[in-house]
Amino acid sequence: MARLLILGILIVTFILLVRAIFPSASKKEAQADSTEMVKDPNCETYVPRADAVRRNIKGKDHYFCGEKCAEDFKKKA
Ligand SMILES: [Zn+2]
Repeated sequence: MARLLILGILIVTFILLVRAIFPSASKKEAQADSTEMVKDPNCETYVPRADAVRRNIKGKDHYFCGEKCAEDFKKKA
């Protein structure tokens, strides 16, 4: 029983430790991700990834400034 208790405490401590280390890192990543600029291959403008329209064309992800560019590029591709 005591062993189980120690194991439980160890697991909780481990989870808390991981949470203490990683949230800040993943938060930074998420922030960098949303502000990352992606290039619209149709009109060659850069748009923030968070605002971009994502389309998978021929197995590759492309980011567009809007639906119109996505459709135009799809037609050209
Ligand atoms: Zn565009």
